[in-house]
Amino acid sequence: MASRGAIQSILTEPDSTVALAPAVPALLPVARPSLPRFEALAPYLRRIDEGRWYSNFGPLLNAFEARLADRFGHGAQVVTVVNATQALTLTLLALDLPRGALCMVPSYTFVATAHAVVAAGLTPWFVDVDPADWMLSPGAARDLLAAAPGEVRAVVPVAAFGAAPDIAGWKALREETGIEVVIDAAAAFDTACDCALPTIVSLHATKALGVGEGGFLATNDVGLAERVRRLTTFGFHGERLALVPATNAKLSEYAAAVGLAALDDWPTTRLRYLRASQFMRMALSQTKIGFQPGWGADWITSVCVVRLPAGARAAEVEARLEADSVQTRRWWGEGCHANPAFRSHPHADLTATEALAASVLGLPFAVDLDAHEASRIALALERALDAGRG
Ligand SMILES: *Cc1c(COP(=O)(O)O)cnc(C)c1O
Repeated sequence: MASRGAIQSILTEPDSTVALAPAVPALLPVARPSLPRFEALAPYLRRIDEGRWYSNFGPLLNAFEARLADRFGHGAQVVTVVNATQALTLTLLALDLPRGALCMVPSYTFVATAHAVVAAGLTPWFVDVDPADWMLSPGAARDLLAAAPGEVRAVVPVAAFGAAPDIAGWKALREETGIEVVIDAAAAFDTACDCALPTIVSLHATKALGVGEGGFLATNDVGLAERVRRLTTFGFHGERLALVPATNAKLSEYAAAVGLAALDDWPTTRLRYLRASQFMRMALSQTKIGFQPGWGADWITSVCVVRLPAGARAAEVEARLEADSVQTRRWWGEGCHANPAFRSHPHADLTATEALAASVLGLPFAVDLDAHEASRIALALERALDAGRG
């Protein structure tokens, strides 16, 4: 039998007239974002044309914020921001903590969490997560306080890949200790529905509800919402007077148009994600792959991140899948603490983080992933795992 390389060279030969099935199937990308299409945007874009109001809290942005706030129930305030990283940074700044104060963060998160903490003038203290749900728990945070390398003034729990953190537990910890808690729910548009604690959600194109670039703070703290709003708009509050050092982090009417159209589609989008998740769950049911608790059943998200069976190394499986044209991503790499930008910051024991980093892999996933693609992923994964054992 011809080797894969030989077949490929035949296929790529310029004057080859032999029609062969492609030896290497088309690449299955790890993500295939899908934002509202032209037809869905048109009515909103027309409103922008007619109103000639393009930014600075126009009618579309106000409507978008009101509809987002509705998701969080009575009394919720929503402040849109250019992206979730800035929303996190500005929310932490608005808490007015002493410069350099310690902020506890799970190392197992996207680097944006740590960047935001540093940009807000705080010192990240990287701590471990629970191996069962990949998140920092309020109980673990409480236990860790005694070992902190200084006084902890804030904590940023992360909704891992869209999972719901224990909000009641975090609220109790804040009440008990006075430590500020800001939830990084960047990937958790679906599960974020309680804003008893300041909660940040991303509207990036790769997240479940995307506008391209964008994010928001949801909170029932009116004062905090006002302070964050001021920070997004030159320190202005009502009049054109800079009351505090600030920046410009507003979202335009165009982004709000995409957001409104995305919200119109959301009930359908959510069902389509559920369907795609079920395809993955069924296709992978014969493997020893571990999903996040409730993934694709109790809650949906835009990524399929799985834990490989004991003994399998994510880096090796990734390389074998790549050879099979199945793209994967180790979304959170080795954890924040391993990035050059954050190596000088303190960290606690990170046993679970290191184990997750070595065994967690993001598989191809999309709102329109079909059963055929799911089985192709499952087959490639089974082959990759078998090769690892052999
Ligand atoms: C996506 C993500 C962010 C960053 O969101 P942006 O809107 O792209 O700035 C931050 N934290 C986590 C956990 C994320 O998944």
